[in-house]
Amino acid sequence: MSWKLNIKLKTPTEIAMMEASARVLASVFLELRKIVAPGLTTGELDAAAEKMITDAGCIPSFKGYNGFPGSCCISVNEEVVHGIPGARILVDGDIVGVDCGVIKDGWHSDSAETFAIGEVSDEARRLMKVTREGLELGIAQARPGNRISDIGTAVAAHANAAGFSVVESLVGHGIGRRLHEDPQVPNYRSFSTPDPVLEEGLVIAIEPMINAGTKRVVTLPDQWTIVTADRKLSAHYEHTVAVTADGPNVLTRR
Ligand code: MG
Ligand code: MG
Repeated sequence: MSWKLNIKLKTPTEIAMMEASARVLASVFLELRKIVAPGLTTGELDAAAEKMITDAGCIPSFKGYNGFPGSCCISVNEEVVHGIPGARILVDGDIVGVDCGVIKDGWHSDSAETFAIGEVSDEARRLMKVTREGLELGIAQARPGNRISDIGTAVAAHANAAGFSVVESLVGHGIGRRLHEDPQVPNYRSFSTPDPVLEEGLVIAIEPMINAGTKRVVTLPDQWTIVTADRKLSAHYEHTVAVTADGPNVLTRR
């Protein structure tokens, strides 16, 4: 099988530009960590992120993307990704995934983090931990000479060993001048997507979505929100990562 891939490798100067974008995004997440709490609405969380991004002279890349109304996707509990921020009030025990993107000087960064609201269940805490660890194991594979599939293989092995499942219908992606570039970055060993060798200068968004139950997901009638088919919990973490000669450079590291 052959695929036509349009991979745009970045120069060190371009990666430095992306790092500047990513630093703004990392600072947004550090601030969100401080303000997430029971009683806050997802709309208020989104507004806070948007203000920080625009105050930094940057553009919230999700706003208006394919008509998306928010600056962040905010997905609570069984919502996997693409939740629309609004009037929903966060309550003690929720886990809330925030996915956000920044454009600075034309360069994109993309990151996500799942927050615990107050005291969450042991299972929720374990799901979040395993998903974070899976992301780090995937990132560790992002070095020249490895293949895209090494990332997903590492993520899925960790998730499955913990008794959780990996969402397969949504994947990570290349990133740069555009939010979504080639190649796709599955969080499992995919045999139906291209599997290029990782080269220095490749920048990718690695973003495992791990479910407590079934890997199957469905889209709600709002046409955006993706939820687990069995309505069990899901967690999502994402970093924008540059493949360099020295190994992975996590541009959105907090
Ligand atoms: Mg994202
Ligand atoms: Mg992404």
